[in-house]
Order: sequence, then C-alpha cells, then structure tokens
Amino acid sequence: MQSISILGATGSIGDSTLDVIRRNKNAYQVFALAANNNVEKMVKLCHEFKPTYAVLVNEQAAKELSILLGTATIVLTGIDALSDICSDERVDVVMSAIVGAAGLLPTLAAIRSNKRILLANKESLVMSGQLFINELRQSSAVLVPVDSEHNAIFQSLPSQAQEQLGYCGLKSLGIEKLLLTGSGGPFLTKALNELDDVTPDEACAHPNWSMGRKISVDSATMMNKGLEYIEARWLFDTSIDQIEVVIHPQSVIHSMVQYIDGSVISQMGNPDMRTPIAYAMAYPDRIDAGVAPLNFSQLSNFSFFEPDYQRFPCLKLAIDACYMGQGATTALNAANEISVAAFLNKNIKFTDIAKLNEQVLMKMAVEKANCIESILSVDKQSRLLASQLIQRDFSL
Ligand code: NDP
Repeated sequence: MQSISILGATGSIGDSTLDVIRRNKNAYQVFALAANNNVEKMVKLCHEFKPTYAVLVNEQAAKELSILLGTATIVLTGIDALSDICSDERVDVVMSAIVGAAGLLPTLAAIRSNKRILLANKESLVMSGQLFINELRQSSAVLVPVDSEHNAIFQSLPSQAQEQLGYCGLKSLGIEKLLLTGSGGPFLTKALNELDDVTPDEACAHPNWSMGRKISVDSATMMNKGLEYIEARWLFDTSIDQIEVVIHPQSVIHSMVQYIDGSVISQMGNPDMRTPIAYAMAYPDRIDAGVAPLNFSQLSNFSFFEPDYQRFPCLKLAIDACYMGQGATTALNAANEISVAAFLNKNIKFTDIAKLNEQVLMKMAVEKANCIESILSVDKQSRLLASQLIQRDFSL
C-alpha cells in the first residue's frame, strides 16, 4: 500500500488523481490533502478519503475546516505545512499539483525526502531549473512527469533516460530530438484582430482538455507550451536543436521522440489527465485509469504544423527566455502568473499578457537566480514590477 500526499487536491489534477486512487483503493491510501482556501471541497474530500492531514494555506479557511471536520483529520495551515506533508516519513508518493510558484518549496521538500514525485507543477521547474535538477540528482527521489507531453516523452524514451532525468544525454542514446506537441488552444484560427476582445471564459474554453483557469489561459496564449519547452529542456537535458514544438490540434499524439535511425516513437491516447497520472503513480507498472481506449476507426485527419509566433508571442518569449538564463525564466514565470491573474480579473486585455510578460522579461532577465534565495527574490521583484506596470500602463 502506497501512502500519498496530494498538493492541489481541490484542483483539476487533484480531481483526476483522486479518481485514479478511487479505482485502485487496494494499492493507494491518501495521507494528506492540501489546497489554498477551498473549504467546501476539502470537507467533502476528507469525508471520502479520510486523510491523516488536511492543509489549507489560508489560515481563516483552515480554521473553518477544522471546525467542520472535528477530530477525524488533523488540519494544518501555512506554507511550511505543505512541505511537512511532503517530507513526512509515512509518505511514499507526492502529487505536486499546486498551480504556480507556490509549488516550488514543497516539491523541493519532497525531492530532499527521497519520495516518488508526480510532477504536474511545471512552474517549480521553470523557476528553478538547474537547482531543481541538482537536488533531484543528489537525492534518491524518483520523479515522473505528469504533464501529458512530458509523460508521453518519458514513455517513449529508453529506460536509461527515464532513470537519469536531468542528465540523460539524448545523443548518446540515439535520440535526434523531442517533438513537443500542442493543440494551439481555443484561438488557433481566430482572426488576430479579434484577440484584443476575448473574454476570460472564452480563453478558458479549451477545445480538448478540461483544466484549471490559469493553465487554460496559458494554453490559449501558448505560454503553456513555452513553459513546457523549458520544463522539457531541464527534464530531458536538451540542447537548442533537440526540441521542436509541433501544433497538433487533435491532441491525440501527446508528444514524440525522434531517433537517429528515422524512427519516431509517440504516446497516444484520449486527452484525459488520468492516463499520465496513473502511469506516473504505477511506473514501471500499469494500473486502471478509467480512460476510454482510442477508437482508431473514428479518428481522422491528424494534422501537424509549425506554430505561428505572431499569433503566439508568449511561446516565442518562453523559448527565448530558456536560453537567456535562470533569471529570465524565473522572471517570465512570475510575470505570467500576475498577467494571467489580471486578465482573469478583467484588469487587462488578453493581448496585454504577452506585452506585459515581455516588458518584465527584458528588465529582469539579467538578474542572477542561482540559489533558492535569489530565485525567490527574482520571483518577488518580477511580480512587483508586473503589478506596477499593470497599474501604470495596462489597467482597463
Ligand atoms: P487548478 O486551478 O484546477 O487547481 C489549483 C490547485 O492549487 C487547487 O487545489 C488550489 O487550491 C491550489 N493552490 C493554488 N494556490 C495555492 C497556494 N498558494 N497554496 C496551496 N495551494 C494552492 O489547477 P490545475 O489542477 O489545472 O493545475 C495544477 C498544476 O498542474 C499547474 O501547475 C498546471 O500547470 C499543471 N498541469 C495541469 C494540467 C491539467 O490538465 N489541469 C495538465 C498539466 C499540468 P484552492 O482550490 O483552495 O484554491
């Protein structure tokens, strides 16, 4: 029986993870559930899964939860509690699925405690890159990517690469390049002059995937693919000519690995996050994920093309930032969290997300971010700068 802590339990990835656990109750038990402030959902989850701990980072929300739950589950609050439920010696597996930079410290705590880490929170790797990989390398933690693209690449790689994430040396394994696929999101064919006026609900209406609002907006700008590009660069130790982004609107091929002999190995499946989550939980075994199999006779018109950077400037920004250094990717991630939140709150236009991100990136890229303190400092300064720019130049 594996004991699991779930960071981001009330979110979309949390839902999918708990559904896989429901289907595999003989193999997994929930040790702790963590979220920010969603009391109502956490009460329901605690009644069903009876974890030892429930964490709500928001203190007031945690107080309410504690009253509602009585003594059945111990309620904790504060940021440190997130790390505590990851490093507890009774925990085997940590699902890292908080959205945004708040996932960094608890994910590092799970690595340092040598857990199996199911990594959905791409922002932690984007903002800490080499430091994250160094920590992973020094530990005996096992990391399996949950992002469907990275999970697909992981599944298509030889076992030597799977066991050496962050330093696998693709060339020596006969690998030419990684093909990172992306659907292009809801605005793939929308007239460019209409993008100024799209609403948060339109941006969150992804054609293939059901996800939280931040990653949905990131998919609409393709910043998500940019963050994934940076994530892939670190996880699979790639050089600039070893990753290519390919638009594949049907979201059936979740990414591919191209070998030097011309072979291309891909992972396919219906777009349902329970597949990569179940894979990451059971690797190298397989468990039931509750996902319908692909029906090939009903699949038609697979298409693939290059991304258009005029339509998706955030993708270009992220790829450029990837080769500018750690300060750049930390700053870009922070700016993007602020600009997406501002767009979702209807404070800025959809097209301002890229403009704002670029301005912060250009000012902050030179900053050093080579230890946890400097990373957190660049993150903080970039958020502040993005907020100031919104007030000064972008506010609607
Ligand atoms: P959601 O918005 O659906 O859920 C976010 C979760 O994080 C909620 O449980 C929320 O709690 C919690 N949370 C937010 N801020 C904090 C904080 N400061 N401290 C503690 N908990 C916090 O997001 P998703 O599930 O869609 O995404 C989660 C992560 O997984 C992201 O990094 C995303 O990029 C990644 N991912 C998601 C995919 C998807 O299909 N959804 C696919 C691939 C990757 P509360 O409800 O209380 O606010």
